[in-house]
Amino acid sequence: MGWRIWTVVVLAGCLALGASATGQDSQEAAFARARQQMVERDLKGRDITDARVLWAMGKVPRHRFVRPVLAREAYADRALPIDEGQTISQPYIVALMTQLVELKGPERVLEVGTGSGYQAAILAELVKQVYTIEILPGLAASAALRLKALGYTNVEVRAGDGYQGWPERVPFDAIIVTAGASHIPQPLIAQLKEGGLLVIPVDVPGGHQELLQARKERGRLITKSIAPVRFVPLIEPKR
Ligand code: SAH
Repeated sequence: MGWRIWTVVVLAGCLALGASATGQDSQEAAFARARQQMVERDLKGRDITDARVLWAMGKVPRHRFVRPVLAREAYADRALPIDEGQTISQPYIVALMTQLVELKGPERVLEVGTGSGYQAAILAELVKQVYTIEILPGLAASAALRLKALGYTNVEVRAGDGYQGWPERVPFDAIIVTAGASHIPQPLIAQLKEGGLLVIPVDVPGGHQELLQARKERGRLITKSIAPVRFVPLIEPKR
């Protein structure tokens, strides 16, 4: 008698496990569909043309970089709140900034403002090594754990002040700053390789910010204005 009951219990358990695994699969499939739609509509539908950037944006699970209650909004065309009053940028802006540093594959890239780690994951799909700095230690720690859980082995996360760059890891082929600065930090210019690209949102008169793309030529930056943007502020040394 006893074994029959156990067989039923074990069978029921297996069925339940199977059902929940299938439930998870279909949820992941729904996220993947939403992600592809985001790529088509919000990236290809605008001016994102770099095939590798589009591929990375179609691959990285943005829903894993936001709080579970916001997962369903992860592929909408907007920024979302993350912990400690910070934000994960709108997917289009992440794609645009990534496209603007013109990555080919062998680069070592610095990101200032790790936040959730999403931009770092996109970069990690595209280059050899990513270094990312976050000033809030709690965010740095959770981003490092998340990136590890997702299997990224080519991202180094550090808690610290990214205004100063990362002198121990110089030089960088490209630098992305994902917080709004009052000016381009001198240490970042110094740590960028000759010919390298820097992308950064900076304050402009009227309380607005402008996304800049800058190339280092003969030690100086040649900058180009790209688009008006809105980022959380970069914490800068007092002057
Ligand atoms: N790239 C992130 C979003 C960044 S939000 C993502 O993909 O999720 C901007 C981040 O910059 C915030 O987390 C903020 O804490 C951080 N930040 C602000 N000033 C900083 C500084 N001086 N050095 C490093 N990080 C800074």
